[in-house]
Amino acid sequence: MSIRDGGSIPSIYNEEGRMSEKKNRIIVDIDNTLWDFASVLYGKISHYGVPEPSEWHGDFYKRYFSLEQLMTYVDEIHNEQDDRYPPFPDAVNFLSSLRKKGCHITIASLRNPNKRDVTEKWLKVHGLVYDELYLVPDKSILFDNHHAIVDDDPRTLDKAIIKGLIATGLKFAWNKNSNHTLFSRLTDVLEHLNKSDCCRD
Ligand SMILES: [Mg+2]
Repeated sequence: MSIRDGGSIPSIYNEEGRMSEKKNRIIVDIDNTLWDFASVLYGKISHYGVPEPSEWHGDFYKRYFSLEQLMTYVDEIHNEQDDRYPPFPDAVNFLSSLRKKGCHITIASLRNPNKRDVTEKWLKVHGLVYDELYLVPDKSILFDNHHAIVDDDPRTLDKAIIKGLIATGLKFAWNKNSNHTLFSRLTDVLEHLNKSDCCRD
């Protein structure tokens, strides 16, 4: 298994072979960070009578179906994720602004590693810039070599804070009661990162 498909220690070298400094390295999630995954998932499972995403919490699905069934729907969406599914309006500028200020952008998703091709294509077709893409079962394997993370999963943000990362992301029903610094738009997340020492010269 290659490192990019779920290995244990990420590279600290960029594509030119130069080491990128930890303070310049930021992890960015995909689902519910760069695009509205929850609404598409809701479209697939609403017939079970599940509540709308504005009422979801971590285990919202358990009353309706199994984790295995949920993952089948999640996998289906990742298979279908193409130019029909746009990123959030400020996602392109969010990533390009991070790039311009010198950040090394590591896109990380918990999705099945066999979705690498479709994921790369989706990022490219929408002009979402990045340096590395990891499809991993646990993003914490990336934490030692990164300074910040943008993610909607409060459990992932909890682990990141313990490791000393700047942890932030978009605010949703499932994370709004956490103690993390969350925002309604990526533009506001960017402003927060700009105020921190992330990627600062
Ligand atoms: Mg997410």
